[in-house]
Parts: sequence; structure tokens; C-alpha cells
Amino acid sequence: MKTAVAEINLSALNHNLNVVIKHCPNSKILAVCKANGYGHGIVEVATALNAANAYGVARLEEAIELRNAGITKPIVLLEGFFNTQDIALIAKHKITICLQNHWQLSQLEQAQIKPSEPLWLKVDSGMTRLGFYHHEVEQALSRLEKLNYTISETVLSSHFACADELDNPLTNSQLKRFNEILATHSKQKALQASMANSAAVLTLPEAHFDWVRPGIMLYGISPMLYSHADEYQLKPVMTLKSKLISVKKVPAGTYIGYGARWLTQAETHIGVVAIGYGDGYPRHAKDGTPVYINGRIVPLVGRVSMDMITVDLGQDCQDKVGDAVTLWGENLPIELVAENSDTIAYELVCQITQRVEKHYI
Ligand code: PLP
Repeated sequence: MKTAVAEINLSALNHNLNVVIKHCPNSKILAVCKANGYGHGIVEVATALNAANAYGVARLEEAIELRNAGITKPIVLLEGFFNTQDIALIAKHKITICLQNHWQLSQLEQAQIKPSEPLWLKVDSGMTRLGFYHHEVEQALSRLEKLNYTISETVLSSHFACADELDNPLTNSQLKRFNEILATHSKQKALQASMANSAAVLTLPEAHFDWVRPGIMLYGISPMLYSHADEYQLKPVMTLKSKLISVKKVPAGTYIGYGARWLTQAETHIGVVAIGYGDGYPRHAKDGTPVYINGRIVPLVGRVSMDMITVDLGQDCQDKVGDAVTLWGENLPIELVAENSDTIAYELVCQITQRVEKHYI
């Protein structure tokens, strides 16, 4: 019997897609399902999100996995680095490429096969990661024209660095720069545009353009700092569950776990839950990280081990071995666990390991 299970609620996933649609009724939706659907299972997620207009992945293998599973809608390789051999696979599987530098254009020029249209072209509006600078876009477009690409079908895209922080001035300056690039080029060539990640879907209507690219919000997790999903009517998709495998009454002054990090202050019951960093539970979770058991929240106490954690069940506990425990998801916002572990919820869902069985409900 598997103790650690991730329940994946596919109707919550579609509820969250509907939240996107409500915010952006006039934009097409590219559902970002890279990194194994943010840990939720890429094929199951993409199949369930059949109202999306396209899917976004980061690696060629992810795109091919989706095609092999029978996904026929456009799949955009958002960040993928590729060489001429990759181009053959990209063409074979009809994957949409997102060009982000002149080196990639040279690879396209040298290739024997032309990948299918439309193309996406990434511009750097201020994040300084991937993408052409404003002054390079003209040349990139004319190189594409020489390769017989239809420029009017090209999607000009860019990515926000700080949209998760309300009022960060970089967001507006990126938007301004993106609009300038768009204005320069769409006079002669009617380009489409895409800028919004989840944070911009929820808080920045002026960044919605033709295509939005939500990721984390689809999984029912807030993209905004210091906020929880329910503030945006999002429902958690992954609920991580396990079981109590030991309950011990211990006196005051007892050290708990590796490094003897926790010392009981009074007589209590210490519960051991079968989940650890070997399952993807964050090792950096602090004392006090919330854990849900039998209708209440109890604190994690002591260091997270590879296969288990310890929780303080209190003096009068009725909990028994075999009782169900929720680590995050329904009844326990994942954002709280992330805050207590000095990380972001994106990382928590992505790092769930193979040992955790996924149950699709
Ligand atoms: N677009 C691009 C290019 C991305 O890299 C990502 C994710 O990192 C997204 C959209 C989705 O972002 P989020 O999960 O914050 O919605």
C-alpha cells in the first residue's frame, strides 16, 4: 500500500482554466504545462485542459511526449534550445518554436526542413534572460521573411520578471518597452502579441494581448506574493496526502529527530508521518510548518527526514496510526507550506518525486 499519494483534481484544473477565461475573454490561452505539468503529470493535465488553445513546454522531450500521447493542438517550445537535429524532430512533430536569438535563426537557415508555422519570437523587454533586444527585431523578422515565414502569423512574446509583486515599477517599464517594440513592427507587419503569465492574467489586463500564458494559477496556486489561491477563486489541484505511522506519548524535555532540533516543552504526543524529502516534501520546512490531520492544523516539529516528518499532536490527541494526513492542497494552502520552507509553491509541486503515486480524481 502506498502511503504518500498526490491526489490530482482535474475538475479543479478546469475550474481554474475558467478563471483564466473570465479574466481574459478576448485572448487565446496557452496553458503552460512544462516540468511534467508543474509536477501534476503533463499528459493528464494537457488532456484535461482541452479548452486551452495551445500548450507551452520548455523542453523538446516534453513536446514530443504530448504529441505521442495524442495531443494535436499547437505546442509551443517556450524556452527550448535546439540544433539542426532537433529541427527535424520539431518539424516531424509539428511543434511551434519560440525563437530567441540569432544563433537559432542560423540553425533554421542551415536546416534542410522548415518547421511549421506560426513561429513565436521572444523579445527581451527588461528581464535580461532570453529574447531579442528591440534593435535586433527588424533583422530577425527579415531573416524569417527570407525563409518564407508569414510574419503576420508570428507571435511576438516577452516575459515579466516581477509581475508577482503588485506595483513593481519594472512591470510597467517592461510593458512599455514591449508596446514600443510591437508598435515599431506592427505598422508594416501585423504581429500577434503575448506577455501575460498568471500574475499578469490576474492583475494586469493591459498585458493580455492576443495570447495569455498562464501556468501556476491553472494548478490552483496563487502567483502573487503573500497571497493564497482562494483570494483569486482558484481551487487547489494537487492535494498531497500520507499517513500517520507512529504516535508516541513523550514527556517534557524530549528531543525530537535529527540534530535534536526540537525539544518538547510539555508532555505531548509526537506523530510520525510517512512523507519526507525523498518524496519531495521540503527539507527546509521550519518548526511550526502547518500539517492537517483529523480536521485541525498541527505544527511540524523537528527536522524533515528522507522518509518521514514529526508533528506535535498535543497532549489530548485521539489520532491513531493509519490516520490520513494532508501536507498541502485541500484544507491546507500550499502557499503556507512554501512560506514556512523559504521557497515558492512552484518548487514544491515540481519536486514531488516518483515515489509519490498520483491519483487522478
Ligand atoms: N511564459 C513563460 C515564458 C514562462 O517561462 C512561464 C513560466 O515560468 C509562464 C509563461 C507561466 O508562468 P506562471 O506559472 O507564473 O503563470
